[in-house]
Amino acid sequence: MSVRDIYKKTREDLQRRQEEEGKKKTGGYGQQGSSIYLLDKIPDGIEFFRPKATEEGAKWNFDIIPWFLGDNLNNPKIPPGSQMSYLFVSFHRNIGNMFDKIVCPTRTFGEPCPIDIWLRTNRLPKEQWNAVRSVDYGIYLVYVRDGGEEQEKGLQIYEVPWRWFGEVLKNRSEMPEGGGYIPYWDVELGKTVSIIMTKKGEGKINFDVNNLFDRRKPIPDSVLEQAANFHLDECVNLHPSYEYIYETFFNKKYVEGEDMLELKPIINEYKTDKQEQPKEEKQKPAMTSPQDENDIPDEKYEPVTKECPHGHVIGRDINRFSHCEMCTVWDACLALSNDNKKEAPEDEAPEQKTQRRRRNV
Ligand SMILES: [Zn+2]
Repeated sequence: MSVRDIYKKTREDLQRRQEEEGKKKTGGYGQQGSSIYLLDKIPDGIEFFRPKATEEGAKWNFDIIPWFLGDNLNNPKIPPGSQMSYLFVSFHRNIGNMFDKIVCPTRTFGEPCPIDIWLRTNRLPKEQWNAVRSVDYGIYLVYVRDGGEEQEKGLQIYEVPWRWFGEVLKNRSEMPEGGGYIPYWDVELGKTVSIIMTKKGEGKINFDVNNLFDRRKPIPDSVLEQAANFHLDECVNLHPSYEYIYETFFNKKYVEGEDMLELKPIINEYKTDKQEQPKEEKQKPAMTSPQDENDIPDEKYEPVTKECPHGHVIGRDINRFSHCEMCTVWDACLALSNDNKKEAPEDEAPEQKTQRRRRNV
């Protein structure tokens, strides 16, 4: 058989694979571990909405389309079939050799996460801590109202930092004088949500939830049909195993009972300045999440609160009291404590105490 015949004989197979690749949302041979999405489960034709920021401030309008919960949330309070307006997920973004994104069981479900346990007992410089900690996101199904290209795409998935959008939307939808909340997600009575994204230099983005407007036209039936048959929860790897997270983070086999606090995990530092990002990182499109270009590393970490709810000194008294375990401002307290530590090195005693206290979390 001539070389040409061999090529001819095997070309069909390659053509078939080319067509399959064309339909797929990533390259590679199966790098699902690096994304929180189970890409194969996302229905055909549904894309990720990636609004861009401009210097003048790009305005994006979209409707949030409700969907029905599948079997993957495992929350007894919200049974499968419940109508949902978003999926809340907190995930770590730069874990292990492959910069994996992994859903954080602690922040998302209140279950043990080896990364969080390690983080809470090993003090990292703020930049590193920021890179490793999990960040809260809301994942929505949206129908963009731009009268053009984006609208034609129909239903899209929109993943957006919770602090930028979900949290703000919650406040914006609250009516005065105890009037309840605007059901912005409602199929009939819902609103068109408007956001403004402005480039602010140094790769930073100003994200603003602008307003809630009455919809000028109802949501098309075709979009509702797409959403009604799409269980968003089933498309996200919501429950990575403890062992998997452990092995990815520490880059070693999980051994039960091992003192992980002695281990040295892979810490990938996230550079905030996009110009300085190492080339290799940019060459990994399959590793990045849909929102990466506007990703949250642009956001400066600012503790939401400057006060300890229990009357102690935030940033100084971390883990010194029993209620620190369950404290709602623990993250902010740690960040401040790391800052303080950088400025004035602490004496040994409180540090050791810290490590023992947080070990059982
Ligand atoms: Zn975690």
